[in-house]
Amino acid sequence: MSVKDEWQTLNEFQSMVNPTGDQIMGSVRYPRYQNSYPGRSPQEELSILQDHYRERCRDLSKLKRLIEEKQRAIERACAHKWQYDETSRDHRSRYVCMICGTDR
Ligand SMILES: [Zn+2]
Repeated sequence: MSVKDEWQTLNEFQSMVNPTGDQIMGSVRYPRYQNSYPGRSPQEELSILQDHYRERCRDLSKLKRLIEEKQRAIERACAHKWQYDETSRDHRSRYVCMICGTDR
């Protein structure tokens, strides 16, 4: 998505007089919640902020899955150079790979 597209999405979002949850969820690219929404009732403000929170939770778990996928790909492709891990206290993972950081 280009910067122009992002601005268009943001402008569309801001031009919505009373966006529904789905409309807010649909425009993922808007940058940040506001601390207050002048002109909105306390209930509306709360609802808007809760929508932001849910969207960020979704985004965060997508990011976490992406990181885990990339980490697994690195580990699978790694030739592994094991070294005894003297800092391990639980005795379950006593060796750690010096290249990719995985343990065994
Ligand atoms: Zn490795």
